[in-house]
Amino acid sequence: MSDKFDVIVIGGGPAGYHAAIRAAQLGLKTACIDAWSGKDGKQALGGTCLNVGCIPSKALLDSSKQFYNIAHNLPVHGIMVENAKVDMATFIGRKDKIVKQFTGGIEQLFKANKITSFFGTGKLLKGNQVEISGNDGAKQTITATNVILASGSVPIELPFAKFDGKHIIDNAGALDIAAVPRRLGVIGAGVIGLELGSVWNRLGAKVTIIEALPDFLGTADADIAKVAQREFKKQGLDIKLNAKLSKAEVKKDGVHLTYADKDGEQQLIVDKLLVAVGRRAYTAGLLADDTGVKLDERGRIVVDEHCHTGVDGVWAVGDAVRGPMLAHKGFEEGMAVAEWIAGKAGHVNYDTIPWVIYTEPEIAWAGKTEKQLKEEGVPYKVGSFPFAAIGRAVAMNEAVGQVKMIAHAETDRILGVHMVGPGVSELIAECVVAMEFKGSSEDMARIIHAHPTLSEAVHEAALSVDKRAIHKGN
Ligand code: FAD
Ligand code: NAD
Repeated sequence: MSDKFDVIVIGGGPAGYHAAIRAAQLGLKTACIDAWSGKDGKQALGGTCLNVGCIPSKALLDSSKQFYNIAHNLPVHGIMVENAKVDMATFIGRKDKIVKQFTGGIEQLFKANKITSFFGTGKLLKGNQVEISGNDGAKQTITATNVILASGSVPIELPFAKFDGKHIIDNAGALDIAAVPRRLGVIGAGVIGLELGSVWNRLGAKVTIIEALPDFLGTADADIAKVAQREFKKQGLDIKLNAKLSKAEVKKDGVHLTYADKDGEQQLIVDKLLVAVGRRAYTAGLLADDTGVKLDERGRIVVDEHCHTGVDGVWAVGDAVRGPMLAHKGFEEGMAVAEWIAGKAGHVNYDTIPWVIYTEPEIAWAGKTEKQLKEEGVPYKVGSFPFAAIGRAVAMNEAVGQVKMIAHAETDRILGVHMVGPGVSELIAECVVAMEFKGSSEDMARIIHAHPTLSEAVHEAALSVDKRAIHKGN
């Protein structure tokens, strides 16, 4: 086997494996190097997303939702279940099985696409050479015309609450708790804090979330965040805003937290503490000193709008570069770079990346919030529609939340859609399509939506932009 490739991808997470598969589809001789090992010590492709991120978190969210519904939703339907219990080994084991199925699936896809897969750590050397330190200790060097860096991200650690894997845990730890903790502390009311906090809250843990900022979910539209905050409170999540943690001490009876809020210094004891204060780009050992690849002030690999590093033939994608840390953003960048390398027209539209938070109710949005449009001085009009008036949502006993559509005041072009409610993780897709095609709220209002479905909330929100929603006063 020749050691010269057309493309070498370092990192087999969502960004890297998409880049590798697309490059191979385009006839490029491709290698991918990834260092992740699963619980069995064997290579586990798919990065953070498949191993300790998107997929395992959704598996536990779905399992915990089933359990929560037994007490909180089924009785409304007239179905009474007594003494329901969670078998934790099955609960965690099901998640592990799903992870294995999908990481193994990427391995099969690599084989089917004739991608040479290396299990180890890749280091970019000058001249597009890559040194591989195998997980078995062996070293070798391979070269390529193009190298795509897709090394991903890792959780940010707080200096006064360092991860110990047992009492103070990160996302990986929070996906592998063997018994439901009586009291779970969470630092950060961001996406991970809310999703994984919800999992353990639904199983009976007393969950307290400590968030430094005064506003809840500041990146979401304020109306949507307000509804979500109210619903999470009803579910028992205790979210403390404007609260600054200063100490986390592991003692015999739990983790002792000291934080300050508007009422002064507070103490809290929890059995486990999940620290979820964001993630940082991971580039440790990735770059030799003389490659010319630059990092920005936040440690991210510097790239232009085409994910090019400025060094001939070196590209970077996914969480390791600027932009939101989302798997689907990495997917698109990976595929686009492979297409640019092959001389084709790759494409990533950063303006229509959807965001989804998989809590109950779900939260989803794409495009601009009202706050952003105000700051930018863009004239806009707003339509909204509550799920309380959607027959399907009421039939499901999930009639909470709303869809809010924002369109340009003059052109009517859809500028943003913001949702909180049942199934909005799926509903956002049609709004992204409309926005990608530069659609207007009138376009959406004229599109036939099946009755009775949750998607009627999108239709009615579009009608409401023009004050002609049918099932509510305008
Ligand atoms: P990663 O997935 O981090 O993959 C990078 C890979 O590169 C890893 O396998 C790593 O071992 C490997 N690597 C790094 N350096 C080297 C090296 N030098 N040599 C060889 N290999 C190397 N996003 C969503 O869109 N939806 C979600 O629902 C969602 N849920 C999430 C839930 C959690 C709990 C977490 C933590 C994240 C979640 N994310 C979600 C974010 C998503 O997981 C990331 O955006 C995504 O995984 C980034 O992909 P990536 O390929 O850039 O990096
Ligand atoms: P995040 O940026 O979503 O939230 C971190 C939160 O912690 C913020 O609200 C921040 O204000 C707060 N914070 C920061 N420092 C703090 C401190 N010292 N004390 C208290 N609060 C503090 O980050 P995350 O939840 O760790 O998630 C990391 C990334 O993973 C996100 O950027 C997200 O893109 C991705 N992710 C996505 C999904 C999804 O798409 N559904 C799910 C999970 C994770």
